[in-house]
Formats: sequence, structure tokens, C-alpha cells
Amino acid sequence: MLRIALPNKGRLSEDVRELFNDAGLEVRSMGDRALTASLGGEFEAIFVRSQDIPEFVADGVADAGVTGWDLVCESGCQLEQLLDLEFGRCRLVVAAREDSGIASVDEIRGSPRVATSFPALSRSYFDRSGRKVEIVPVSGAAEIAPHLGIADIVVDLTSTGSTFRMNGLREVATILESTARLISARPAAPRSEEKTRALGELVMALGSVIRARDKRYLMANVPRAKLEQVRDVLPGLKGPTVVDILDGGTHVAVHAVVAASAVYRTIAALKALGGEGILVTRIERLMP
Ligand code: AMP
Repeated sequence: MLRIALPNKGRLSEDVRELFNDAGLEVRSMGDRALTASLGGEFEAIFVRSQDIPEFVADGVADAGVTGWDLVCESGCQLEQLLDLEFGRCRLVVAAREDSGIASVDEIRGSPRVATSFPALSRSYFDRSGRKVEIVPVSGAAEIAPHLGIADIVVDLTSTGSTFRMNGLREVATILESTARLISARPAAPRSEEKTRALGELVMALGSVIRARDKRYLMANVPRAKLEQVRDVLPGLKGPTVVDILDGGTHVAVHAVVAASAVYRTIAALKALGGEGILVTRIERLMP
């Protein structure tokens, strides 16, 4: 059994469930008090708080886990990153009161108080930038600390910056960029062959779904005489697949994987080359 620690609630939990479902590892049967669940085959999930996942994986309570890179870094645990899951994107930033006039870390004077739920990362950041600060640990909602007179500066996560703006705070520096990651412990002793294989299969299953998400499969009928130009428009993984059509040979069907963001441009370019019958579909998984 490979045990995987997953967030039980909070911002990451929905996206994690969706990813595991898409990879064919959906929650099958919940165990006692919904703390554990079978994911099918040799995989079992335990549902815990995102903040606790680095510790649980480092201690061997779980063989792997999914949590934010910010929490992995804050934990200071020796962990191995197996896969970037590309969601839960956010930044850990330093923000100061708009009315403080501070626009960069260099302008921080004296020894201000810094409210944060990331004391370790904040401490090491201010140490590195040679600023003396007093860290005030809070368990969340650091952005209200300046209003309460608890701190002059905050270090907190943001994705759009709107919470800071709403609270009259200005971002002055980025400490860390984060996304959700699949992690495992750095084992003192070599892992069993079985565990190594199961972890490899997990990375492959999740990775193939992530890789496919921003890609589309495009098919079009194009004049055979234009194939050289079509190759420039449709690079695909190894160049497009070309399939005969029973139309006497004037047209061929081309199939290729394209970036989702490039689909509109590609369709226009294919049309300009006489392409027709263009079809675009999503891809469930992609293994290069
Ligand atoms: P939770 O505390 O369980 O809701 O999980 C919070 C995690 O979600 C953080 O540690 C980040 O990795 C991630 N996250 C993504 N966007 C944001 C955001 N705008 N604010 C806070 N956390 C975020």
C-alpha cells in the first residue's frame, strides 16, 4: 500500500480531488470518520490539514503527499519534490501599509513588527536582506494585523493582490512563488522496489493528466499540395500525423497536439492554407 496525504479541506482540496479523479485515482471507499480512503489498486489516501502534510510525509506517516510549496518550504522538512501540479498558484509577499510610504524592502527602517503565519520563511528573508524585524506569528488573516496595531508589515500569500489592496496594503517584495506539489520523504534507507515502482506510477498517472490539460488534439483536412506549409503551422509532438482520405488523393487529414492557447491562431492558419473539417478535442492524458 502506498499512502498519500491529501488536504482534507481548504483551497487545494477540490483541485487535488479533481486531479486524482482525472488520473483514475478517485476516492472509492471512505474509511473510518473519513480520514482515510481507498484510491483503488495499491493507493490509499489519508485526509489531513495542508499545513501538516510536510511533517507527516517527512515522518513516514505517509509515503507521499500533496500540499503547497510554501508550506513545504516553511516546514523546513527534508522532502523531495516529485511533481509540480500547476494549481494553487500564489506568492508569499511582504506588504506594508499604503500610508507608510514604503515601496521597497530597502526603505524599511528601524525594527518593525511583521505579522505572518510563515515565521521561518519571513525570518530567513529579512535576515538575508539585512533588515532587523520582530516576527509576530499569527495563524491566519495577517492582513488585518496593521489595522489592529499588531504589526506594521505583513508577510502573507496572495494570488491576485486584491485582499492586500482592500486592506490598504502595498506589496513591496516577493519572497516565494508557490504551486501545489507532490512530495515524498528523502528516505534514509533505500525504498523497497515495490514502493519505488508505485511512486513512479503515481507520478506518471498525475503527470500525464497535468501535461494534457493545456493541450488540444486538432484534426483537419488539408490539400496534399500544402503539406509542407502545414508542417510549419502544426508542429505536433513529432510533426503532424498524416492520414489518407478516400477522395482521390487531393486532400489528406492531419492530426496534431497543439497548445490550447495556440488553437485559434492554428485554425486561422490552417484555413488560410485551404484547411476544412477542422475538429478540436480535449486530451485526457499525454505521455511523451
Ligand atoms: P488551506 O490553508 O488549506 O486553504 O491551503 C492554503 C494553501 O493554498 C496555501 O498554503 C497555498 O499553497 C495555496 N494557495 C493558493 N492560493 C492562495 C491564496 N491566494 N491565498 C492563500 N493560499 C493560497
